[in-house]
Amino acid sequence: MQTISSIPEMQTRVGSLRAAGKRVALVPTMGALHDGHLSLIRLAAGRADAVMVSIFVNPTQFGPNEDFTRYPRELDADLQKCEAAGAHVVFTPGAEDIYPKGFSTFITEEAVARPLEGVSRPAHFRGVTTVVAKLFNIVRPDLAVFGQKDAQQVAVIRKMTADLHLGVEIVVGPTLRDADGMALSSRNRYLTPAQRADALSLGRALRRAKEMVAAGERRVDRLVAEATHLLAQHRRVRVIYAAIVDRDTMEPVREATPGKTLMALAAWVDEVRLIDNEPL
Ligand code: AMP
Repeated sequence: MQTISSIPEMQTRVGSLRAAGKRVALVPTMGALHDGHLSLIRLAAGRADAVMVSIFVNPTQFGPNEDFTRYPRELDADLQKCEAAGAHVVFTPGAEDIYPKGFSTFITEEAVARPLEGVSRPAHFRGVTTVVAKLFNIVRPDLAVFGQKDAQQVAVIRKMTADLHLGVEIVVGPTLRDADGMALSSRNRYLTPAQRADALSLGRALRRAKEMVAAGERRVDRLVAEATHLLAQHRRVRVIYAAIVDRDTMEPVREATPGKTLMALAAWVDEVRLIDNEPL
């Protein structure tokens, strides 16, 4: 496995892979890798000849009062994990190369990015689409792998890729959870054991909604009421949103339709902001 931080060097490396007829996959991450990330790398390795993993804590997707400076950074451990999961190249660009002085061009997706996360994090997806478009342009992958854990991010990136004819196949890996149902996230390490115990209610509420839909319930108000009821039983949890939405547009739907809708949740657990979702 090779680690590359220079953009021109990365372009040269990928250029030679493509010239040799290799199918190239990209797995974009912000590091602090856990088994969820590694499952995406393995998924990529099963579908491509060369797997590129990018590790870049992207400043433009963090709001002014968010956790950019304290976001966990642990490159040595990440590189070992990438190698074990089957990555061929890890791309670790510097912020000064991705956003050189005077950088002034951004990509905004203006529909799918609006609801849910877009309400509380207004500039978040602009940062995500900009950095993902840049990574696509640098790496020019045949396919890119993202996690269902960030369902709205997947929908926004799919939309951007189609709208801008980027020609990258978007592959989505399922959300990896701990045995207790907690979705793996780099931010889980901010939680104390007591906060984590309360945070388990997110996974539980989603499981309950899924069971209700499996049992025939389609009414959005019933599903949302049950989920918020479960969350409200935990004193550290403050719900930001609990919504049943179309999985492509992220717009609220009238009724749950298996295969087309998902329940999306965001909550504060004390000072830690968590999101989770489950296709219904
Ligand atoms: P991040 O490092 O948080 O930007 O995440 C990098 C990629 O890993 C994104 O596509 C995420 O959706 C994905 N990811 C994060 N957590 C999980 C998880 N628990 N299961 C599967 N994929 C995940």
